Amino acid sequence: MAEEINPLEELLVDELKDLYSAENQIIKALPKMAKAASSPELRRAFERHLEETRKQVDRLEQVAEALDFRLTGKKCKGMEGLIEEGKEIMSEDLDDNAMDAGLIGAAQKVEHYEIAAYGTARAHAAMLGYNKAAKLLQQTLDEEGATDRKLTALAESVINVEAVHA
Ligand code: FE
Ligand code: FE
Repeated sequence: MAEEINPLEELLVDELKDLYSAENQIIKALPKMAKAASSPELRRAFERHLEETRKQVDRLEQVAEALDFRLTGKKCKGMEGLIEEGKEIMSEDLDDNAMDAGLIGAAQKVEHYEIAAYGTARAHAAMLGYNKAAKLLQQTLDEEGATDRKLTALAESVINVEAVHA
């Protein structure tokens, strides 16, 4: 019965639905970003994160199963906006180097959104005593953090500042 649902639990369910929508939007966006990347390392990083993202979707499904609810019915507007901004960058007339720099920036905005959202959901799951869910969410949170750090390292190794100044 609705009045018996803990409000924090209701909030957690919304957060997880939002993440499910976000991850599925990312699955559609990453192949386009990989295609737009010039650096082979950057392209591979996007492709690898696509595989990882599919596993993250599986994990959200495991969380929903453990908590006994359905993940459908929500669109993540935050991710929609971030992906829209990524598309704007891809539509710009930039040289390869600057395009890669723009793609890395767009991808890091996505990772930071995910880090915030998974951190919150993990904390709420832990508060509610859903330890298995919290553990699964932590695994994804760790992957998003690692991806963000990898993008920072790629920005330092791949982007040629001399070319930008030329
Ligand atoms: Fe993700
Ligand atoms: Fe991610």
